[in-house]
Amino acid sequence: MPKYIFITGGVVSSLGKGICAASIGRLLKAHGLSVTIIKCDPYINVDAGTMAPFQHGEVFVTDDGAETDLDLGYYERFLEISTTRDNNVTAGKIYQSVISKERQGEYLGQTVQVIPHVTDEIKRRFLETGKDFDIVIIEIGGTVGDIESLPFLEAARQMKPDKTRSDVIYIHVTLVPYLSSSDELKTKPTQHSVHKLREIGIDPDIIICRTEKPLSREMKNKIALFCSVPQEAVIESPDTFSIYNVPNILKRQGIDEQIMMLLRLRSKRWDFEEWINYVEKLKNCMKTEPVKIAIAGKYTKLKDSYKSLVEAINHGAVANNTHAEINFLDVEDGGFKETLSTMHGIIVPGGFGERGIEGKIETVKFARENRVPFLGICLGMQCAAIEFARNVAGLKNAHSVEFKPNTPHPVVDIMPEQKKIKHKGGTMRLGSYPCRIKPNSLAKDIYSLGLISERHRHRYEFNPKYAKACSKRGLVVSGIYKEKNLPEIIELKSRQWFMGVQFHPEFKSTPLNPHPLFREFISASLKYKNGTL
Ligand code: GLN
Repeated sequence: MPKYIFITGGVVSSLGKGICAASIGRLLKAHGLSVTIIKCDPYINVDAGTMAPFQHGEVFVTDDGAETDLDLGYYERFLEISTTRDNNVTAGKIYQSVISKERQGEYLGQTVQVIPHVTDEIKRRFLETGKDFDIVIIEIGGTVGDIESLPFLEAARQMKPDKTRSDVIYIHVTLVPYLSSSDELKTKPTQHSVHKLREIGIDPDIIICRTEKPLSREMKNKIALFCSVPQEAVIESPDTFSIYNVPNILKRQGIDEQIMMLLRLRSKRWDFEEWINYVEKLKNCMKTEPVKIAIAGKYTKLKDSYKSLVEAINHGAVANNTHAEINFLDVEDGGFKETLSTMHGIIVPGGFGERGIEGKIETVKFARENRVPFLGICLGMQCAAIEFARNVAGLKNAHSVEFKPNTPHPVVDIMPEQKKIKHKGGTMRLGSYPCRIKPNSLAKDIYSLGLISERHRHRYEFNPKYAKACSKRGLVVSGIYKEKNLPEIIELKSRQWFMGVQFHPEFKSTPLNPHPLFREFISASLKYKNGTL
């Protein structure tokens, strides 16, 4: 029987509940327990795929092709697991299946209601996804008190119908704000938010307090008293130099021991050294002179839009004993080229929509001509193909049909299967696809494998016909999706560090297993910086 840990949030959003959930998962995994994590998102969208990244942050793609909340990225990076579409439960998915069951007559004769039909559907998914694990952590998105999250909280409450049960616990993450005018930390918002949780019928077992400053013993006592938890169950989570240090902070306060005691679980081993060593190495890397990396895109206002990418760059930097200074360049801003000339490595990331496209193509040109290490991801690879076609292969006005449907040279085109699709949600080329790597290529040197698998999220492809034309002028297709003859990786015959990939390697990088593409990209950028490339 799996044990369940519910994680709720109070006071404000963006407290880092996902990081807390992932950190707890990492600690329990270190005890030899099998762990999975589910994220509940209270919005009505069926998945995150139809939301703008500058509103909701990055869309994280799983191996099985689900477009999910970015918290799943944290779960994968902290726990070294591969999540699936079942790890992200949205209100949209729940209502969709309840309504579809109603239409099929499954509830014949009944009035279909939030309780019990919606809550039953939520619980069914919790039980189904968790059945093969020792521990299921369930993070409930939003803040206690939101109307939208109520059915999820009610389902969480129902999972522990009897207070004496030791298979379900609740952890509440709150904010203890610091008021500079009076130079003090305030516990009142935490008290209110725990009160709100109690009204719903949930008694928290552990309270994690996000704070800017350390909590004094008195403060902890006060929170413990007002919220009816033991003093040691008030855990502080102060701002720290890296999210990867959060498991250490929680461990020092014994959160793992408390959880195992509450759930009556025994530790099977203690395997945490690798993580500690990584954080130690990371700390030392932060003291080095940085390698400057540009991300030239358009969602530069909300950093969460490129979450996995930023993390993958950081993993690659630590693997090279350095740290990266990441510069988000707005390619719509006239002066961006000046900044580009100060960079040691340039990335054009994935994206949608025409805005900024010419700036991205200009960025590729700059990197290619100045031999600055370049990595184009998805739309970035498509820009690289367009740039090469226009400026090297002489195909004037070459473009992607996504932006110029009547271009004379559809270098990036829509394939017949995608052309038929009219609906938007979940209909792109999504998830893992195999890619065959060409021998004697930069890609082969990087991956040292002949066959790889990477995650996709796009509708358009580098048109194989133009790939052939460009290859006569020095472009190499070094990775291919054989079944459909689609180019997946492009590079230059000259072997300068220039690479475009149709997939998203950033989704598979973890601190303990940095992705080879980012490791080698940073290595090349370091060499460029030192003038040894
Ligand atoms: N807009 C492009 C396409 O759909 C690229 C998508 C992406 O970068 N993820 O093909």
